[in-house]
Amino acid sequence: TNLTGELSAAVRNVANFPVKGVTFKDITPIFANIKLFNKIIDAFADKFADLKIDKIAGVESRGFLFGMPLAVKMNIPFVLIRKKGKLPGDTIWASYNLEYGTAIIETHKDSFSEGEKVLLIDDLLATGGTINASAELVRQLKAKTVAAAFVAELAFLKGRENIKDKNIEIFSIIKY
Ligand code: IMP
Repeated sequence: TNLTGELSAAVRNVANFPVKGVTFKDITPIFANIKLFNKIIDAFADKFADLKIDKIAGVESRGFLFGMPLAVKMNIPFVLIRKKGKLPGDTIWASYNLEYGTAIIETHKDSFSEGEKVLLIDDLLATGGTINASAELVRQLKAKTVAAAFVAELAFLKGRENIKDKNIEIFSIIKY
């Protein structure tokens, strides 16, 4: 059977979460289906096998759950992009707009080196704010985001069009 079909059967719609009127795509059933989980990691690994990626960066927190297994599979180092205040070492930060207010993400100053090719991983692409800020962190350290991969994309929010760096290849397995 095909991966998109299996994924769409696994992803759960949760009405009115985190606020009234929003239908949240809950991807947690994927983690309970290890065969499906492995297929997702394999699909990412196949997709990016030839890009000569130097680092995989996972975006807190569900980006960690897909990013680290992918890094192990591809034998590529993994680094963390986290919410403000969580990382213990010297950090750099970037901010992005939320519906109300702003959010800040951080990474360690030694996460990326100049010229490295980076693959960003998160579970889901919505408005693109998180991935823009993540790419900004990569840019601050003079590395290059070559691709961003997601399990799911809320295509109706047009996050793909909001991604400022048009050189980033955007990949998602299932689109809504
Ligand atoms: P964006 O910054 O608007 O693209 O939002 C993407 C971030 O919000 C990702 O880190 C997602 O994990 C999270 N997110 C937003 N909407 C959903 C959803 O419906 N399901 C799961 N995660 C979501």
